[in-house]
Amino acid sequence: MIRINEHYDKLQASYLFSDIARRVKAYQDAHPDQKVIRLGIGDVTEPLPAACIEALHKAVDEMATSSTFRGYGPEQGYDFLRQTIAINDFQQRGAPVEADEIFVSDGAKCDTANIQELFSTDIRVAIPDPVYPVYVDTNVMAGRTGVAVNSRYQGLVYLPSNEENGFVPDLPTEPVDLVYLCFPNNPTGATATREQLTRWVNYALENKTLILYDAAYEAFIRDSSLPHSIYEIPGARDCAIEFRSFSKTAGFTGTRCAFTVVPKSLNGYNSQGNPVPLHPMWNRRHTTKFNGVSYPIQRAAEAVYSTEGQAQTKALIDFYLENAAIIRQTLTELGYAVTGGINAPYVWVKTGQADSWKFFDTLLDRAQVVTTPGSGFGHCGQGYIRISAFNSRGQVEEAMTRIKKVI
Ligand code: PLP
Repeated sequence: MIRINEHYDKLQASYLFSDIARRVKAYQDAHPDQKVIRLGIGDVTEPLPAACIEALHKAVDEMATSSTFRGYGPEQGYDFLRQTIAINDFQQRGAPVEADEIFVSDGAKCDTANIQELFSTDIRVAIPDPVYPVYVDTNVMAGRTGVAVNSRYQGLVYLPSNEENGFVPDLPTEPVDLVYLCFPNNPTGATATREQLTRWVNYALENKTLILYDAAYEAFIRDSSLPHSIYEIPGARDCAIEFRSFSKTAGFTGTRCAFTVVPKSLNGYNSQGNPVPLHPMWNRRHTTKFNGVSYPIQRAAEAVYSTEGQAQTKALIDFYLENAAIIRQTLTELGYAVTGGINAPYVWVKTGQADSWKFFDTLLDRAQVVTTPGSGFGHCGQGYIRISAFNSRGQVEEAMTRIKKVI
């Protein structure tokens, strides 16, 4: 008899975006003539930068000739990409990261989901609220939680991100072994200052807590005082793993390339309390369960760091940030309190209504604009909606015109 993993039974009914899709479909079926504008799901809309396309074509041509053809590559990623990342994303910012500490993968989603495999099931896990749902659900699947009561899983330590703390969670008041942090944040668009991250790093070092730092939106940071990497903070190499992605940086959501940094100096602890390096553990996991990102895609990712690639990706992100500014301005003019959208592609809007889905439905029914209800990201997201800047300028402007008309 094949027994199932019953921890899956604890998962809350359905994934947020399928709920949204269901409501949008129901609306469209009832109003087939209405044109819906999607500012909900965080997927990019603009094409890949020309430098990436050029590198991709060249690499595909290499695959057509036996002398340049490549089969399996190193599971951790080709040296050309790991070196380029280490220099450009870290060393040039004063963050001490070496190429062999970088693990290239096909997504920050899988990496943030899979990393918890390295840890015991009885650790205490702290999760910001609201949060990117992957961190929570993968810990539920692994059996690190009890059942959900009032949409909160027993056994998890929730860290509220709210108006009072500027959407940057305070340090836990009870001991935790693992904490997820994400800056710039999905869904709130909040960023963490150097001082705030230093406080987290010092806490982690003092308490032997591991920080899982998701910097998937790092490229949206325009404020030069804000850290792009947790490794810009002294001591972070001894307490943090960082996740990055080319998805939002360079439009790779459909192309798939990301990476995770596991410093060699980083330890977990065994049941005797002895330190165990995490780098070889993740290396073992990665090489056992993953067979590498394709060569052409890694060449395309490398092109992000060329002079042209840098200019083109900057222009791409500037474009989305201008969308975000338009959204922010409209909602602010309408009298809503907004956060995010300055160093992040998401605008987090306080709706003034108790239930996020009510405002979601109002915008869908009256303006035909799809947003994301904040409650889908956690208890503290209730009463908020997330508006994504990932769309064409025309669609964003049209959406804002409609919202102004109906609100
Ligand atoms: N981390 C955060 C915070 C995200 O919002 C997303 C995607 O929306 C991801 C990771 C996933 O990134 P990837 O496309 O590399 O899997």
